[in-house]
Amino acid sequence: MLTTTEPAELSEVWSGITGRTTDVVGLGALIARIAVCRACQEAGLLGEAHPITAAPRDARVMVIGQAPGPVTHREGIHFAGPAGRTMAGWFQRAGFPPGEAHKWPYLAAAWLSSLTRCFPGPSGSGNGDRAPSTREIALCRPFLEEEIALVDPDIVILIGAMAVRAFLGRVKLDDVIGNRFERDGRVLIPFPHSSGVSRWGNRPENKAKIERAVEQLSAERERLRL
Ligand code: SF4
Repeated sequence: MLTTTEPAELSEVWSGITGRTTDVVGLGALIARIAVCRACQEAGLLGEAHPITAAPRDARVMVIGQAPGPVTHREGIHFAGPAGRTMAGWFQRAGFPPGEAHKWPYLAAAWLSSLTRCFPGPSGSGNGDRAPSTREIALCRPFLEEEIALVDPDIVILIGAMAVRAFLGRVKLDDVIGNRFERDGRVLIPFPHSSGVSRWGNRPENKAKIERAVEQLSAERERLRL
């Protein structure tokens, strides 16, 4: 979404071949609102709300994951843990240059987000993290929709089954990983969860599908001259 309210210096941050550009001022205002959100805590869904935020900047690629993990919660940086390291490798193999906007340099190419922004805590079984509930996702979804509109990315990368289904419907990873989709003029590229605990992603027969997804990302990078 193009806006008419950006200061002149911010309106020049990017002019790509699609004409999309991030409303950096609007994104900053949204982040300030997210930072003080306690909706899930007040609804009794979370012990302590601690939304993950980042400094606003232009990005042509947006990543949407499931929810912050414990390393992200501790460091206050989206995708700070193993999931981020794996995803950075996908960006590197897709040909993106390293940058300084993230602890994993190849993730500097993307604006990072997730269905919910607060660490849900460990799972009840003690095996991994608790997946965010339907109610938490619903409470956080308006932030995500506003964020997509403000970042206005050309490419949206969906990480993990929950994020994939939130945008592509009740699909199977088997049927969608390695393919690209289009919504509202944006290219959506699904990936499995990158934390390393994804049994789907660890199966040998699925590694070729992940490579095809990396190739899709590389092709879009070339098309957009990123
Ligand atoms: S997960 Fe989202 S809606 Fe829930 S408290 Fe955190 S920022 Fe607010």
